[in-house]
Amino acid sequence: MEWHESGTPEGDRHDGEMFLLFGTRMSEQLINVVTFVCGFCHTNAQQNVIKASNKFTLFFVPLFSFSTRYRNECTHCGGRTALTAAQVAHSMNSPARVPGQ
Ligand SMILES: [Zn+2]
Repeated sequence: MEWHESGTPEGDRHDGEMFLLFGTRMSEQLINVVTFVCGFCHTNAQQNVIKASNKFTLFFVPLFSFSTRYRNECTHCGGRTALTAAQVAHSMNSPARVPGQ
């Protein structure tokens, strides 16, 4: 008795493709609040020091930060100034600093 296999060949199908879902996510964090005379509104107002990180995500899970920026945001007028990491470190040590003086 002979057995003849009668199946449909499926050699052209691509079931093994992987679907990777990746992207970036911006997260912002208030890391310090300092008070000095704002360069925009010239008011002695609280300034929020904000750390903004761009994170690489895979399936919505943040893996690592690939760019981190700091900025200063005036709570009185909303004026924003970019900060360097060194300036942020300095603001941690002297909370009542007046920039540019
Ligand atoms: Zn201001």
